[in-house]
Amino acid sequence: MNIILFGPPGVGKGTQGVKLSSAFGIVHLAMGDLLRAAVAAQTELGLKAKAFMDAGKLVTDALVIGLIEERIVSADAKNGFLLDGFPRNVAQAVALNEMLTKHNLELDHVVFMDASKEALLERLTGRLTCSACGFGFHRHYSPPKIEGQCDKCGGSLIQRADDTEEVISQRLEVYAEQTAPLLDFYGNEEMFCKVKAEAGMDEVYTSLLAAVKG
Ligand code: AMP
Repeated sequence: MNIILFGPPGVGKGTQGVKLSSAFGIVHLAMGDLLRAAVAAQTELGLKAKAFMDAGKLVTDALVIGLIEERIVSADAKNGFLLDGFPRNVAQAVALNEMLTKHNLELDHVVFMDASKEALLERLTGRLTCSACGFGFHRHYSPPKIEGQCDKCGGSLIQRADDTEEVISQRLEVYAEQTAPLLDFYGNEEMFCKVKAEAGMDEVYTSLLAAVKG
């Protein structure tokens, strides 16, 4: 099964993407995580991507397209993949279609997760991430048992460098200008569906499962 999960920053793609991909035994390819790993490892790609990410802008298409093509044909994607944060503009969506045709692959579901701007801002400003394992928490909605410490691995919790108010508003603008047009790109396809993502984590997960099980 091959799925695209898309929607604005803070809508919960990462959290839900982890759960959905493990439920279906498919690989979770979160572009933001792949890029942050490249930045941390100081690879050539990471060094090029960092300034764009810090500013809340999109990294150059060629970099992310190359990265995703490598991953969708890798051994861990043999049962399928869930794309989270890719494509993020129409040029990337066109490139994705081309690479799917080239590798004889198809999309089964394109799921759009939606929430109001107020809900997104509240989620993004309270978001905490484990610096060791990447697990996500929220100051109010899902706080860690011990302040500042990851429940899963004991790592220290940090606020993402791009989760500051200034960068968040830039990311929301980039989303409206560049990513929201994907609604027109995929909106008329049979595999497209919309899920309201403002309820609690478990309720949203139930709606997503229903959407992809058809
Ligand atoms: P995310 O973790 O999905 O919020 O992504 C964090 C940052 O990574 C974004 O603000 C962009 O700078 C970069 N990024 C993630 N996915 C893409 C993409 N598909 N195209 C370009 N830049 C991306």
